[in-house]
Amino acid sequence: MRIIFLGPPGVGKGTQSQKLVDSLHIPHISTGEMLREAIRQKTELGLKVAAQMEGGRLAADEIVVQLVRQRLAQSDCRNGYLLDGFPRTLPQAASLDLALAVDDEAIDAVLNLTVDQDELFRRLMDRAKKEDRGDDNEETIRKRMEVYDDMTFPLINYYHEQQVLHRIDGLGTVEEVFERILGVLKKVEQDKKA
Ligand code: AMP
Repeated sequence: MRIIFLGPPGVGKGTQSQKLVDSLHIPHISTGEMLREAIRQKTELGLKVAAQMEGGRLAADEIVVQLVRQRLAQSDCRNGYLLDGFPRTLPQAASLDLALAVDDEAIDAVLNLTVDQDELFRRLMDRAKKEDRGDDNEETIRKRMEVYDDMTFPLINYYHEQQVLHRIDGLGTVEEVFERILGVLKKVEQDKKA
């Protein structure tokens, strides 16, 4: 299963992604994590994206696409993967589709996890306090939510048109949300076999 996880910052994608990859035994590909690691290691790429990502903005499409393509070419991705935080823009989504089409592959499911704005903001501020994440303060949180609406929201339409989009209600306990996700994926798998 090739799965994309969409959803605004703070919606619980990270937690649900982890549970899902543990359950399906597929690699978890988080571009945010990959970029943060590059910044931590002070690699050439890390130095470049650090400036781009300042203030909650996105890293450049070419850089992120290249990073993901290299990752997907690794052997552990042969039987599927979960993309978390990628694609985030229409050009990224189009590049991904092109790269997959070369090998006659396609995304099986796009999970769109949703909760309302106030709840999101509250969760992000809470996480900032707990994790001491450098990119989580009130101003950058607002900026990241804005960037999501501008750049990432159009993807919902893009995948809806491809008929691979599934909306998941992100309110409830971690387990409740996870059960909803498993239910959707089970149905996708059945449809794929039919
Ligand atoms: P995340 O951990 O997914 O919330 O990502 C944290 C930050 O990494 C984002 O605010 C962006 O600056 C950057 N980032 C992660 N994924 C992407 C992507 N696909 N395209 C551009 N920037 C990204």
